[in-house]
Amino acid sequence: MVFEHPKVKELLDKTRVLWALHHAESVLSWDSETYMPRKGVADRSLAMAELAALQQKLLLRDDVVKLVDDLSNNNDLNDYEKGVVRVLSRSIRIMKALPPELVMEMAKTTEEARPYWREAKVKNKFEVFEPYLDKIIELSRKAAEYIGYDEHPYDAALDYYEEGLRKRSVEDMFNYIEPRIRRILDKILSNGLYPSTHELEDVKYDVSAMEKVNKEVLQRLGYPFDRGRLDVSAHPFTIGIGLDDVRITTRYEGKDFKRTLYGTIHEFGHALYDLQIDKSFRMTPIARGASLGIHESQSRFWENIIGRSKPFTEAIYPLLSSHLSFISRYSPEDIYMYVNTVKPSLIRVEADEVTYNLHILLRFKLEVRMMEGDYRARDVAEAWNEEMEELLGVRPKTYSEGVLQDIHWSMGSIGYFPTYTIGNLVSAQIYHNIKKDIPNFHDLINELDFEEVRNYLREKIHKWGATYPPEELLKKSFGEPLNPKYFIDYLEEKYLS
Ligand code: MG
Repeated sequence: MVFEHPKVKELLDKTRVLWALHHAESVLSWDSETYMPRKGVADRSLAMAELAALQQKLLLRDDVVKLVDDLSNNNDLNDYEKGVVRVLSRSIRIMKALPPELVMEMAKTTEEARPYWREAKVKNKFEVFEPYLDKIIELSRKAAEYIGYDEHPYDAALDYYEEGLRKRSVEDMFNYIEPRIRRILDKILSNGLYPSTHELEDVKYDVSAMEKVNKEVLQRLGYPFDRGRLDVSAHPFTIGIGLDDVRITTRYEGKDFKRTLYGTIHEFGHALYDLQIDKSFRMTPIARGASLGIHESQSRFWENIIGRSKPFTEAIYPLLSSHLSFISRYSPEDIYMYVNTVKPSLIRVEADEVTYNLHILLRFKLEVRMMEGDYRARDVAEAWNEEMEELLGVRPKTYSEGVLQDIHWSMGSIGYFPTYTIGNLVSAQIYHNIKKDIPNFHDLINELDFEEVRNYLREKIHKWGATYPPEELLKKSFGEPLNPKYFIDYLEEKYLS
């Protein structure tokens, strides 16, 4: 048995209602993003706010807090039980630290900010979003002070999204990868081996044909359609409603088919994680991923390391050409080049795997300054263009393709971006290990035979859920914490050899 300790069992009994609320909330969120009529949003956001408040109240019940406190100092617990106590005490610590008025104000501000952010982006008017960003920066700094931190207020923001993450370690990470990425990028651009654009980017596709491609690719990867669904939404996402109900979405722009295809593969990586969590964790606080960074490592592993590899593009070529008539004009080698163009560009979500992390570095630098003090929204907008030019050598002409491009800050998510880089680095660390442990890894990809790969990821990462914090999971599974060296090795192997 996984959970044996009587007090842990009691705690799980008492908190099962939180799981049920979360389950209900997940269905509501999924519905909001997919099928809800546009005007349903008013009632839905009120209902969601009520549910969030109820969750906070139930989590902070005296008997729950007392049980968690008692168990925090208990040395008789097994790893799973410790995981349950760790996850709950972390939520309690944060929920307790933040005054309800601040939580409400943040919720209200971000709820209001989002439509203004959207309008600002569409109209290219930063001043429309500016007062909201000022407010969000101010509230985030207040929240950091309430939550507390050892060295820097940004530490509190980071830890909120990635347990244990600190400004210092993110700096170390970027200090290591930035010069190396630049060197690799310079070589790629000067030797011309990888194109910066491809004519397939302008080729239109038939949406219903593309739907078939996505579904068939998902089937080959091993997505079980009796435990999930593929739907359409404005922003693709994965949502784990239950351990046997993990849904994904994609979007169809009508041209440049790699965007929907690789978006779908990305979400598959997220979904597989949740689908392979140990079933005995059902309805408990550890029935979820270890962290956002580890979750992103799974999506990037499937999207980039597998999906953008030569054996994969070669293997799916027949599938592509059976549904998309224009594919026959191109060779498998063309498809490989098309999905691997490299170019310093303005937009993060369209960035290739070489330049992507420089986009995160830019956001990291700005967020540190936001959390530090007198940095205001206006300063962020100005610094954006300077940093962009310095880091990527391109300068946005509009706010829309600069500081307004991402939704995150309008949602109050300061400290979230670095988890994307962690995901990229961890995916390469997994690649380093899987090549050693499964020597015919590339052959399996070429045969589209993923059972062994799925099992490997299940044993190393997925089945543990949130039993261990991210760094501990990496040490346990791969013998060392996050090591950025493997990402550089991966880029060199792929782009320079
Ligand atoms: Mg993702």
